[in-house]
Amino acid sequence: MSETIFTKIIKKEIPADILFEDDRVLAFSDINPQAPIHFLVIPKKPIATTNDIGPEDEAVVGYMHRVAARIAQQKGVAEQGYRTVMNCNQDGGQTVYHIHLHVLAGKPLGWPPY
Ligand code: 5GP
Repeated sequence: MSETIFTKIIKKEIPADILFEDDRVLAFSDINPQAPIHFLVIPKKPIATTNDIGPEDEAVVGYMHRVAARIAQQKGVAEQGYRTVMNCNQDGGQTVYHIHLHVLAGKPLGWPPY
């Protein structure tokens, strides 16, 4: 798998507004926010799409959701609510091929998303 922009963010080769980091995940603000609050949670392991999540990745994918909820709580939006999204491939609208959990909040979000 070729290196994506998110690998460069993990390696600190390009800057990002980092909200949380440990040995397994990184969370940072989206550069092009689609809601008043929009951040991404990514695994440090580069997994291209949700189709590529293996049994060995189940724990980190669950952990990404827990980190998302914790940051939402810190930002004061957990009770009002938020949306988590993982886009997959072309029709899903994926543009960066390193899985990432979008977390959107801060206003009522429309549904369905088209
Ligand atoms: P996707 O379309 O793959 O689901 O989402 C990719 C997301 O990554 C987009 O929301 C886009 O704004 C964000 N993004 C792309 N490049 C960068 C970057 O260099 N820095 C940050 N912080 N976000 C980025």
